[in-house]
Amino acid sequence: MNDIRRVLVVGGGVGGLTAATAFARRGVEVLLIERRPAFDVPGVGLGQPTNALRVYDALGVLPEILASGFAYDRMFIFDQNRELIVAHKFLLGDAKVPAFCALSRLRLHEILLAAAGRAGVEVRTGLTVGEIHEEPDRVVAVLSDGRSETVDLLAGFDGIRSTTRQHLFGTAFVPHASGYGGWRVQVPRPACVRGMEFLQGIGSKTGAMPLADDLMYLFHIRPEAPDAALERRDYPRLLKERLAQYGSYVAEIAGSLDENSDIVYSPIEPILVPWPWFRGRVVIGGDAAHTSPPHLTQGAAMAAEDGYILAREVLAGDGALDERLMRYSQTRHARCAFVYTFSYQWMLDEQSVRTAKDLAAARIELAQNASTRLAASDRILDSRVI
Ligand SMILES: Cc1cc2nc3c(=O)[nH]c(=O)nc-3n(C[C@H](O)[C@H](O)[C@H](O)COP(=O)(O)OP(=O)(O)OC[C@H]3O[C@@H](n4cnc5c(N)ncnc54)[C@H](O)[C@@H]3O)c2cc1C
Repeated sequence: MNDIRRVLVVGGGVGGLTAATAFARRGVEVLLIERRPAFDVPGVGLGQPTNALRVYDALGVLPEILASGFAYDRMFIFDQNRELIVAHKFLLGDAKVPAFCALSRLRLHEILLAAAGRAGVEVRTGLTVGEIHEEPDRVVAVLSDGRSETVDLLAGFDGIRSTTRQHLFGTAFVPHASGYGGWRVQVPRPACVRGMEFLQGIGSKTGAMPLADDLMYLFHIRPEAPDAALERRDYPRLLKERLAQYGSYVAEIAGSLDENSDIVYSPIEPILVPWPWFRGRVVIGGDAAHTSPPHLTQGAAMAAEDGYILAREVLAGDGALDERLMRYSQTRHARCAFVYTFSYQWMLDEQSVRTAKDLAAARIELAQNASTRLAASDRILDSRVI
C-alpha cells in the first residue's frame, strides 16, 4: 500500500484538475480547492498540442476533447501583409492524436472537471489555503473557511502568483516582467486561416489560432512597458493602433474592433523555478513552477504533464517520498526548461526585427531555418513522457 492516501490539490486550472484526476484514478482520496467561486473560466481558447492530448487520452477524455475542438497540423509564418515566408507541417502526433486541437478554455475545463468528478475528486470552490503546517508524516492546511485538512501531500497548482510557491521559497522566485505583452481577441475565422499562423511585423508580431470552424483568436505580441496602466475601456483603440502596419484579414479585424470586442491583455512574465519543486510534503507544478512566453502554446500542456507525472511518480511506490518528488522535479524541470528557453529565444528573435532592413534579413533567415528549428522542437515535444 502506498504511503500517500490523501492529497490536497490547490488550484482548479488545467494542472490542478489533471493532478487531482490522476491521483484519484489511482485510488487516492483527493480534495481540490479552487479560489474562484465557480468554474466560469474566463479567457479565449487554448491550443492543445499532441503532448497535452496524450495526457487527456490517459485520463480517458480524448474523444470529448477532439469532438469539441478544431484540429490542425501546420503552422505558417508570413510577413505583415500575409505574404508567405515559410510553411511548417508539425512532426507531432500519430493516427490517434492530432498535432494540435484548439478548443475553448471553458469547454476544456468542463471536460476536465467532469473527469475529476467521475474519478471521485471532492471539489470545493471559493476557498484558499490560509496556513500550511508541515510535519514529518503529514501536512495540515488551514483553509480560508477555517477548516483544517490533514493530508499526506499538498500539491500547489495555483498558477503564476502561487501562494504555495511563496510558502516554499518566499520571494526568492517570482515572475519577472519581460517587457513584452500579449493581446488576444476572439473573432470569426476567415476561411484562409487553416492552422496556426504568425505575421512577422516590424517591432511586433501578430498571428491567429483557429478555435472552431467559425472562430479563431487573433494575438499580438509587442514591447509593452511593465508598469503601463492600460485601461480596459481603451483596449479597442490601443489594439487598433498597434495593428496599423498589418494587412490582409488583420486590417479588417482591426477596423472592426469596438467596445464589444472581447479583448484580453496580459503582460508576459516568465518564471522558471529551479528544481527541486518541493520541500517535505509540499510540491508545486504548472504555472506555479514555470511560465513561458506563449510561442510554443505549451503552458497548459506542461501543466497537464506535470499533474499526470506527479501522480505517477509519487505513487510509483519505490523509494522514500523525497526521492519520488525529486524524480518528478528533475524530469519535469528538464522538459519545462526546454519550452522556456526555446519560447524565450523565439520571442527575443522576432521582437528584434525593428526596421524594414531587419525584416528583409528575417525573411531570408526564417525561410532557411524556421522549419528546421520547429522540427527540432517537435521531436522533443512529441517524445513520449506519458
Ligand atoms: C491569454 C492566454 C492564452 C494562452 N494560450 C495558451 C494556449 O493556447 N495553449 C497553452 O497550452 N497554454 C496557453 N496559455 C497558458 C496556459 O493558460 C497556462 O500555462 C495554464 O493555464 C497553466 O495551468 P495551471 O493549472 O498551472 O494554472 P492556472 O490555469 O492559472 O490555474 C490556477 C488555478 O488556481 C486558482 N488559484 C490561484 N491561487 C489559489 C489559491 N491560493 N487557492 C486556491 N486556488 C487558487 C486559480 O483561480 C486558477 O483556477 C495561455 C495563457 C494566457 C494568459
